Amino acid sequence: KVELSKKGLSVSSSITLAIDSKAKQMKAEGMNVISFGVGEPDFQTPDYIKQAAIKAIEEKSIGYTPAPGMLQLRQSICNKLASDNELEYLPQHIIVSNGAKHSVYNIFQAVCNPGDEVIIPVPYWVSYPEHVKMADAIPVYIDCPEENDFKMKPEDFLAAISSKTKAIILNSPSNPTGAVYSKKELEQIAKIAVDHNILVVSDEIYEKLIYGNEKHVSIASLNSEIKDLTIVINGMSKGYAMTGWRIGYTASNSEIAKIMSNIQSHATSNPNTVAQYASIEALERDQSSIETMRLAFDERRKYMINRVNEIQNLSCIAPNGAFYIMMNISQLIGKVVDGKIINGSMDFAEVLLDRTHVAVVPGIAFGVDHLVRLSYANSMENITEGLNRIDKFLNE
Ligand code: PLP
Repeated sequence: KVELSKKGLSVSSSITLAIDSKAKQMKAEGMNVISFGVGEPDFQTPDYIKQAAIKAIEEKSIGYTPAPGMLQLRQSICNKLASDNELEYLPQHIIVSNGAKHSVYNIFQAVCNPGDEVIIPVPYWVSYPEHVKMADAIPVYIDCPEENDFKMKPEDFLAAISSKTKAIILNSPSNPTGAVYSKKELEQIAKIAVDHNILVVSDEIYEKLIYGNEKHVSIASLNSEIKDLTIVINGMSKGYAMTGWRIGYTASNSEIAKIMSNIQSHATSNPNTVAQYASIEALERDQSSIETMRLAFDERRKYMINRVNEIQNLSCIAPNGAFYIMMNISQLIGKVVDGKIINGSMDFAEVLLDRTHVAVVPGIAFGVDHLVRLSYANSMENITEGLNRIDKFLNE
């Protein structure tokens, strides 16, 4: 038998996949499944962006572009970073990739050496630990409790630092918690990172989806020292409802950008050329479609928070960003629900799907077992029906 890659074998399959494929199977069998599992806007890509892609196919040569992306797109990204985020970058600092997930991959390949440590706040986006491990680095976890709005305390960051710490991941607004860091909180984190010479991987993909009085601040905009240490990640998927187009990007110092560009040039060459043309249009034109989507999400967010907190044995805090809530199921752990003992988030998700045909993502996928994630990227009608079913199931 041929021995296969130890590194490859150590990458875990998605825990959420089991629930997701079961939900899809049930749907295919004709059952009325309500999914709170989705990680993408339920909106169509705006028409003007689709038209730009069609026009590009008809009128342009769809050949290879430079590996880090077309100069015009990188310039549009620089303009966006300057006007939205008070960040001055040049095209040479921007690497456009096949989605922000690919950007995360490039970053850790570019900056980590074997045995380096990367600090990851918990709950985390499911892919971060795997990306770190794929770069032969070691994830170091910091617990960010619900009592602290799922945010990292500066003293916990400080305590997690060792001589091997290479980077920390920051994801504001956060998937899965919706947590948004304030400018003051970012200043505290930035100071520690600068004092200890630690890179900050700042995933800002949910930047446009912020509610209430919160405002998105990019940690890189605080001062030139932290800017030099930060790799900003952003992309088209969430803000422009362009998940399938696969365009994400990074902004970083030119040394890191150059390494990522070299890696990408061998791994994938440029990201899809048609999607690059469409992204230029998305970034350059009127941004009102984002606001329409954001307002719809906000209405659903408020409804979901209120309803969940009305259901006995369940609760959630009010997140200020992205399109998820973390529902606390602690009260149910160790109890028997409809004949099944609930030992953790996976049991809860399974029994819920089985008995009510409502799919949620078990928190264990994000490093926490007393929570489950519900996405409100779904119609009000489905959200209402899904929560009715949960309420009825738990309390009748
Ligand atoms: N970062 C976070 C926090 C995400 O939630 C996602 C998508 O779910 C991504 C990055 C990746 O986005 P993309 O579709 O651009 O690869």
